[in-house]
Amino acid sequence: MTKNKAGVSKGEAKALAQASVADHRRGVVEDDGLWYPHGDAVPEGSTVIPVADGVYWARMPLPWSLDHINVYLFDEGDSWSVVDTGSMGKRGIAAWEALEADFLGGKPISRVIGTHLHPDHIGLAGWLAERFGASLTMTALEYMTASNLWMGGTKEVPDNEIEFMLKSGVDPQFEPMMRSARFDNYRRGVHQLPPRYIRVEDGSDLMLGGRRWRVVIGRGHSPEHACLSCLDEPLFISGDQVLPNITSNVSVHAREPEANPLAHWITSLERMKGIPGDPLVLPSHGRVFKGLETRLTALVDSHLGKLKSLHDWCSEARTPVETFPSLFRRKLTGMDFYMALGEALAHLHLLESLSLMKRTFDGDVYRFEAVGTYDASLVAGQAKALPGVALRELADIY
Ligand SMILES: [Zn+2]
Repeated sequence: MTKNKAGVSKGEAKALAQASVADHRRGVVEDDGLWYPHGDAVPEGSTVIPVADGVYWARMPLPWSLDHINVYLFDEGDSWSVVDTGSMGKRGIAAWEALEADFLGGKPISRVIGTHLHPDHIGLAGWLAERFGASLTMTALEYMTASNLWMGGTKEVPDNEIEFMLKSGVDPQFEPMMRSARFDNYRRGVHQLPPRYIRVEDGSDLMLGGRRWRVVIGRGHSPEHACLSCLDEPLFISGDQVLPNITSNVSVHAREPEANPLAHWITSLERMKGIPGDPLVLPSHGRVFKGLETRLTALVDSHLGKLKSLHDWCSEARTPVETFPSLFRRKLTGMDFYMALGEALAHLHLLESLSLMKRTFDGDVYRFEAVGTYDASLVAGQAKALPGVALRELADIY
């Protein structure tokens, strides 16, 4: 009988999973209004936590301040499917090797499903494909963008990146520092991708662990993020689209400096409020939880609040960097600064697209000044009505 390091056999795991999913008394409802069926417990080392019959929650270490990613393993009988992989690196590979030794029971991983392109999600997809002959399933925009980023990694920071920062109000005295950074982080966090993939789209069906799952796309954090909604049981694999405790980065990047990702993000979250059955949410970071609609509402509301602060703050014209005090409480440096700038631009661009912000350019730097009256109750509807933003009605894919 296969036992993992926690000493849980597969039969026991199944019983535990059924008990923990069925018995609300085992978990805790916390201040955020979400119910965590496993309390504070998280998988450690090569241990796993069963979250449903034949579905296991494991964790891969990450070398960043966000120090872990959740991956989900599905027992396919003679092999395993896995959703997401961890980033490339010695620690991630060692974690997979430990899981293989202690939990996989001699069965190969036959399939990797990547929710989206970020290194923590698909960094080891190519490695798992090489080790086990696993296939890779992703959406087209995620696979193609991943390939493009991987191929485009360079040691020198491109001029376009520097220009983007300077036009956003970064002090030109920092240019040498920006140029001394590298531009190959993506390539360093991601093993070479498999040369072929299986495409899924909004509304596609997958079989995983003996259940039917429907792909539900979200945009804004990444171009075509796949969530998986189980049709046979109330389970929802949310990737980075819906996280407890933390908000996902929604950023404008230099390669598409006029992007409006927050319009896509809010529209995607609003649509997901229609996911039926109050499912158990299996997120990529943090703990498994229940309370999808509560969390979606909190996420949208936090952006609506930030938009309001930003609109108030820009009663006089501000550069994007000058808007930070209205959006972020702490001092930002390094990568955090870069992500904050992307987020500030995402909020500014949404307001601009709704005619609530006016932009000027003095030849060097953009400045944004509030116009009109901000009404939070109108934002979601107006964002959805922008060209190219609306997704199919959720009812059309169920
Ligand atoms: Zn991500």
